[in-house]
Amino acid sequence: MSTAGETDRSPRAANRGEVAAPPARAEVSNWEIVNHYFGLAADRLEMAEDLRNVLRSAYREVQVQIPIKLADGRIHVFAGYRVQHNGARGPYKGGVRFHPEVDLDEVRALASLMTWKTAIVNIPFGGAKGGVNCSTRELQRSEVQRITRAFMDKIEKVLGPSRDIVAPDVGTDAQVMAWMMDEYGKLHGHTPAVVTGKPIALEGSHGRESATGRGLVYMYREAAPALGLAPSDTRFVIQGYGNVGSWAARIMQQLGARMVGASDADGAIRNDAGIDAEALAEHVAQGGTVPEFPGAEPVEHDELLEIPCEVFVPAALGGMIHEHNADRLAAKMVIEGANSPTTPHADEILNDRGVYVIPDVMANAGGVVVSYFEWVQNLQHFRWDEREVNDKLGTIMRRAYREVVARAQEEDVPVRVAAYETGIERVLEAARTRGYV
Ligand code: GLU
Repeated sequence: MSTAGETDRSPRAANRGEVAAPPARAEVSNWEIVNHYFGLAADRLEMAEDLRNVLRSAYREVQVQIPIKLADGRIHVFAGYRVQHNGARGPYKGGVRFHPEVDLDEVRALASLMTWKTAIVNIPFGGAKGGVNCSTRELQRSEVQRITRAFMDKIEKVLGPSRDIVAPDVGTDAQVMAWMMDEYGKLHGHTPAVVTGKPIALEGSHGRESATGRGLVYMYREAAPALGLAPSDTRFVIQGYGNVGSWAARIMQQLGARMVGASDADGAIRNDAGIDAEALAEHVAQGGTVPEFPGAEPVEHDELLEIPCEVFVPAALGGMIHEHNADRLAAKMVIEGANSPTTPHADEILNDRGVYVIPDVMANAGGVVVSYFEWVQNLQHFRWDEREVNDKLGTIMRRAYREVVARAQEEDVPVRVAAYETGIERVLEAARTRGYV
């Protein structure tokens, strides 16, 4: 599994045979998770109920039917969604998720997360999310392409470079973005700025693929001194070795930190002496699964949480850290690469235990920040080099971290609450200035 979007679930070859049962997730829905955290911050801001209702509900929710004849000769009807949550601060922005469990509740929750995320890192976008309830693991690539194009045909009317800009998320990648751009272009003419996370050959941005993982590492670097950590004595575990997880791992390793555990939807591995992040990424890119990786011991999914380490990076799906396993988590710090990986109950357990949590809405914002850079470059028909992209990403991530953590300390609240407060205040200010509320 994998991302914020692009947390793991990289499309792999279909029919690869037996697949282990996925790790248990919480029974709490994504919407309940996000709504709970929103409520905590709204309470602190003493926000009136009517205003809360405005900020909780979405501006527009589109659901479309995607009937596709698959290789088995039958027509399968998939459901596609695009939820535009809030556009007070700029065009709607957010990824598209291809996963069998996608439903309106989940897309709605993820769309609102994007609203707070773009506000917290202070980039001029609103929040949106899309999804199709298809399983890329079981589909041929040509089928994924047809689903992508049919989905775009049905939602293109609500998109546009100044309306709503799509990007990758779980189960989608640069290739899917290329199909999306191409399909949109057939109807509107070449419009690269309507899609971010595109391949480099099609006006994608340098550094976009690694951006979410790199953003997580910027968070680690900001937080490490206060926790007395140096990279050379930092052991980390990655749950969900997809795009986000594998890039975070490779960049952490470049700093000198050591990966001692990793997982994907098929299983988990552990090696206290270290797992080579580059070699594992290569193995997965070749179609291998994490538990098949040589040189590490396969372990149960939930055992991953118990591996002694300093940093745990959930980079899989939502709700993976819940009330039944949060007390087993052995790390000092959790950097949330996935969207809503921690349920409210688990969050309380981690806070009580003194585990330092850097929340999704800030930690995994690197992806949408470089999406913003890609959009800017597309609008200017100009390209920055990777170094410039990474430097600018670092500036934005560091600023967000410092602002939010200073607020958390001042108000003596968890970082997550301070992050939501910051995001909500910015959205409210924009909405008020426009005269909406
Ligand atoms: N899907 C990613 C996220 O959840 C990236 C969104 C984007 O780049 O627009 O943050």
